[in-house]
Amino acid sequence: MSRRRRKKNPIVAIIIIGIVLVSLIISGAGIAFKDFFIMILIIGFSVLGVLIFALIWNLPVNKGKRGEKRVGKILERLAEKYNGYVINDIIIPNGNGGTSQIDHILLSRFGIVVVETKNYSGRLYGSASQQYWTQVLAYGNTKNKLYNPLLQNKTHIYNLKQIVGNKIDFYSCIVILRANLDYLEITDEIFTLREVKDSLNEELKKDNYDDEIIRIAYEKLIDYKNNPIATTKEHVKNIKETQKKIEHNICPRCGGKLILRTSKNGSHFYGCENYPKCKFTKQI
Ligand SMILES: [Zn+2]
Repeated sequence: MSRRRRKKNPIVAIIIIGIVLVSLIISGAGIAFKDFFIMILIIGFSVLGVLIFALIWNLPVNKGKRGEKRVGKILERLAEKYNGYVINDIIIPNGNGGTSQIDHILLSRFGIVVVETKNYSGRLYGSASQQYWTQVLAYGNTKNKLYNPLLQNKTHIYNLKQIVGNKIDFYSCIVILRANLDYLEITDEIFTLREVKDSLNEELKKDNYDDEIIRIAYEKLIDYKNNPIATTKEHVKNIKETQKKIEHNICPRCGGKLILRTSKNGSHFYGCENYPKCKFTKQI
């Protein structure tokens, strides 16, 4: 699946025009009071009100929640249109005794679309194969390392296949809500909210599978939603434990030691001592 680019929506411009208009109307009313002080007070409070509202509305945690809900709604509408199913926010086993949390799964006659929603801001730099991406914030003053969401979703799909099997094709879809995507060296699998809607609307027209096969896959997965194996809190704890193991050079998949190795092109990396049985690697 590939991106279909669209122009950015002019929401910021609309908000600014709105604030200016409201201020003008209020200041007009203020002049009718013929009291300069009250006029200033009204303008001051209304600007303050708008600012506080905008601040709370724009908190990353609120933006993230709204974004994930919006993605869920878009997928639910598509599922209705194409006679499919959507499962939001599900925790499944990851095969290493840990858990894997998946934002959205859309099952239809097209196949199984696995959607990861990311609430990033700033500019993103990275490629499909890089283990970590770079997020640049605050006009280049702050740089963060982010685990490549394509690799994360690849793991999600691997874990889902352990439940559903290999008979149905899986498609990875990363929806990035806010960040500037122009610097990423990838055009596939990465979408904005609008792009994902347009792309899926096209792709889901394809009938690749019978309703019955899709329904069976859905029932296998919805079982994990109805009978949760872990809470979100427990899942977060699992992730932290896995990270700790990796930091101490213990393989999170099999418990073996991670050993410094050299790849064919001469670069170094950590690999599991139980290779080729276990293929876990850690980049340096
Ligand atoms: Zn291992």
